[in-house]
Amino acid sequence: MKKLLFIASFLIISFGCSSEKTSTKQENSKKVNDFAIIIHGGAGTILKKNMSDEKEVEYKAKLEEAIKVGHTILKNGGTSTEAVLKTIQIMEESPLFNAGKGAVFTHEETNELDASFMDGKTLNAGAVAGVTNVKSPIELAIKVMTDSDHVMLSGKGASTFAKEKGLEIVDPSYFYTENRFQSLQRIKNRAKTQLDHDDKKAAFYDADIKNAKFGTVGCVALDKEGNIAAGTSTGGMTNKRWGRIGDAPIIGSGTYANNQTCGVSSTGWGEYFIRSQVAYDISAQMEYLQKSLKEATKDVIQNKLTQLGGTGGVVALDKNGNMSFEFNTAGMYRASMNDKDELVVKIYKE
Ligand code: ASP
Repeated sequence: MKKLLFIASFLIISFGCSSEKTSTKQENSKKVNDFAIIIHGGAGTILKKNMSDEKEVEYKAKLEEAIKVGHTILKNGGTSTEAVLKTIQIMEESPLFNAGKGAVFTHEETNELDASFMDGKTLNAGAVAGVTNVKSPIELAIKVMTDSDHVMLSGKGASTFAKEKGLEIVDPSYFYTENRFQSLQRIKNRAKTQLDHDDKKAAFYDADIKNAKFGTVGCVALDKEGNIAAGTSTGGMTNKRWGRIGDAPIIGSGTYANNQTCGVSSTGWGEYFIRSQVAYDISAQMEYLQKSLKEATKDVIQNKLTQLGGTGGVVALDKNGNMSFEFNTAGMYRASMNDKDELVVKIYKE
């Protein structure tokens, strides 16, 4: 009897595992969308109870507007690069997100913008860090990829390059929004109180980081040619100083794309995303362990990043048009659209 039970449980376990493997195999080999697009507008402590109905409508409308721009490009046979650029630019121009206009403030009350882009076909990439006067950092990141011998430019040099390439230069005040400025003041005041209280031992922006809303924007697109592109643009983290650079402009952390596996854009506490190589790890797990996109994103965000203490999430899309939103925060502004014109726009965890 015992023997029979043992054999029965063995068969059940083996069957369960092999059907899981079959579904992973199917997901990895079957094309589900000829083209697709997925975006985020940041992850963090985004709670329904703290959001007015009007603000929620505003966020959803902007996410929808942005994704539809990219989706139309893809539907008309445009490239994933074009779709990522135009979609991110809509969000960069909106004060709702922490990218372009609406970027958060540094400790010195300036705005320093980071962005990156990767082309999954060629594995070519471009990135910029700490730019202060270029209207569209994502456009500049793409220019670095297409028009320079480099992958990453920073600060003044990046601005000079932007000017030489004829990109739109703005006065730094263009990035000012009252809302973000007040957030900085609140964090500074809180940090000061904490420093006094903790005998100056506490980290200067520790207090608010856990509750921060990371409003970085990102987009991953798959075009009809099977090319994946991914891009990310951000103002970084409020109260950052000493020229701090986050994960958003780091290829492999904030952005990654490879036609053989997937494309990823990250948002969250950048230091942890750099240490975890979040975007590349997802692609690597698909490549080396034959994991599905869902399995890889889940492992990297819910297990590895979480165990390290990092917070945030990713949007990702694989070569077959499977899409995944994965985050370990209360919410993430996000949207996706497939080749059947099906639109998903969400903010909170469900
Ligand atoms: N990841 C960004 C950074 O650390 C912040 C964000 O996602 O909002 O700079």
